[in-house]
Amino acid sequence: MNQFKCMVMALAAATIVGCSGEGKEKKGSDFEVKVDQFADLQILRYQIPGFKDLTLQQKELLYYLSEAANAGRDIIWDQNYKYNLVVRHTLDGIVEHYQGDRNAPEFAKFLEYTKRVWFSNGIHHHYSTKKIMPEFTEAYFETLVAGSPDARFPLFGDIKDATALVAFLKPILFDPTVAAKRVNQEAGVDLVTSSANNFYEGVTQAEVEAYYAASKKANDPTPIWYGLNSKLVKEDGKVVEKVWKSGGMYGKAIDRIIFWLEKASGVAENPKQKKALDLLIAYYKSGDLKTWDEYNIAWVADTESMIDVVNGFIEVYGDPLGMRASYESVVSVRDMEATKRIKAIGDEAQWFEDNSPIEASHKKEKVTGISAKVILAVQEAGDAAPSTPIGINLPNSDWIRKDYGSKSVQLGNIVHAYDEVASKGSAIEEFAWNKEEIDRARRYGPLAGALHTDMHEVIGHASGQLNPGIGTPKETLKQYASTLEEARADLVALYYLMDKKLVEMGVMPSLEVGKAEYDSYIRNALFLQLRRLENGDNLEESHMRNRQLVAAWAMEKGAANKVIEKKMRDGKTYFVVNDYEKLRVLFGDLLREIQRIKSEGDFAAGQALVENYGVKVDQGLVREVKERYRKIGSAPYSGFIQPKLVPVMQGETLVDVKIEYPDNFEKHMLELGKMYSLLPYIN
Ligand SMILES: [Zn+2]
Repeated sequence: MNQFKCMVMALAAATIVGCSGEGKEKKGSDFEVKVDQFADLQILRYQIPGFKDLTLQQKELLYYLSEAANAGRDIIWDQNYKYNLVVRHTLDGIVEHYQGDRNAPEFAKFLEYTKRVWFSNGIHHHYSTKKIMPEFTEAYFETLVAGSPDARFPLFGDIKDATALVAFLKPILFDPTVAAKRVNQEAGVDLVTSSANNFYEGVTQAEVEAYYAASKKANDPTPIWYGLNSKLVKEDGKVVEKVWKSGGMYGKAIDRIIFWLEKASGVAENPKQKKALDLLIAYYKSGDLKTWDEYNIAWVADTESMIDVVNGFIEVYGDPLGMRASYESVVSVRDMEATKRIKAIGDEAQWFEDNSPIEASHKKEKVTGISAKVILAVQEAGDAAPSTPIGINLPNSDWIRKDYGSKSVQLGNIVHAYDEVASKGSAIEEFAWNKEEIDRARRYGPLAGALHTDMHEVIGHASGQLNPGIGTPKETLKQYASTLEEARADLVALYYLMDKKLVEMGVMPSLEVGKAEYDSYIRNALFLQLRRLENGDNLEESHMRNRQLVAAWAMEKGAANKVIEKKMRDGKTYFVVNDYEKLRVLFGDLLREIQRIKSEGDFAAGQALVENYGVKVDQGLVREVKERYRKIGSAPYSGFIQPKLVPVMQGETLVDVKIEYPDNFEKHMLELGKMYSLLPYIN
């Protein structure tokens, strides 16, 4: 639930590059976003623009919340697998203290494995949840441990020396059948006993289900989220919950979280925020899930604060039964630049509606822009780091969402970092037709993506009206409703991206920004997005369908004038925009037609559009795009090094907080391990 779906699949968007100042963009590009790449992963960094302009109280609050976030780091490791902390302390010890040859090829393999484990908060791949297999031998592992005499290896229980530790860890690291998968979703097997996560011990799926069937209240309109914050175990033949709370399981880390949250509460921005923080503290102290619900209601009500935090056991993807939640924290501050830009667009919503190419009777007489919220991540931890969501939509409890609402935000600086990498990386050189296109993408790509997202959200979905007596699109357009709705919102954005109005408003420097967006939209819609498909598949996901629909329709209608052209060079395919003005007119035509379909509820026309243009793909292109991505060595998954908030003290008094951006993943991981190792090796 936490991912802002519309945003996730939308074209990547940026939010922080100032629009009028060249200087700002240059400054942004000096910052190295991508700092490491290994296996199927790349390591990026994000910035927090405007941090130094915050008040001391705000910086102090962000610092305390960041410390609270990191205090729970060990929890996610232990939740992911019972022996992850033992593994991590061992790997950290070797990386720091190994005295043998660090230039040996095997050592490089060991380091790559260690970085993969760090990235995934444990020995299972963060996405597939399959066990990561080392590409070095058991014998070499022995050599590494023996060659690190100064390391403080994790000894516990019967594991009294390094030799015993090696024997204990060998099957855990090297045997593919031990703890093979963290989250098993296969049908027909016991999901609890076949998953390697640490949410259950000694119980079967049937026992878990029986336990909650017995404890759930029937017909409760406001149920707690059963099992959210505990491990379910069998002790002396009885099934019991070991609750994650102060004094309970993970108590040592939770006490440190509470310590920092109490400091945060002391410098809260306003009473609503303080109330929410105090309820979160009370919940961590008692483990009471009713208090957790009260906290969520208070958190949803706090909409005014500049600073916000998600901290707790939040998402349940790690539990195949969807009950127990992984620890995560995202500390954020409102994105003032994006907020200004979005407000500028929202303020002109009526102008955009009046000047839209849709039929007059389908226009709203009074339109209000939808307020989209963009935040800047300041610190992420637990399940949200190093791999991060780009949007957050919480809380998860259905009845709280229905009765009290929810908060939905986009993480602007994270998206911006992705855009920076995309526009600078080798993919743009591989897939763009010429230097002009490449330069334009590098210079304007991130801003273009940001404006597209802003307009899609703020004026796109808000535009247009249904004819009197016509049912909702879900009723009239049925399974095609969401593809057509996303296409409509995209088309509003695309149409206006080539309008001088945006230049006059000061949100973009020239129409070159619009051209950059047209290039990238067409390239992505007709070609690059196909890399997500398995060979033989057609498009199913509605955002992917809508993009191809828009681009393929425009290509066909403009074929006589070669508005969009498929070109070949050295056996490679390219999709090139030849005429931006004509393409804009075609986008306007399609927008008018899709608005008509929506306003009139014309199912047959909607179905024909989607089925004819949005579904079928050329399998040759699927193979080609995957092969070309593979050749340029583009890593499919990204994660982030977090910024470091450094307090400036005068005696006992905090007088400022400085921000640093570490650029070495290895050092960053070792440092987090040192600073926030708060739990025992086995919990
Ligand atoms: Zn949308």
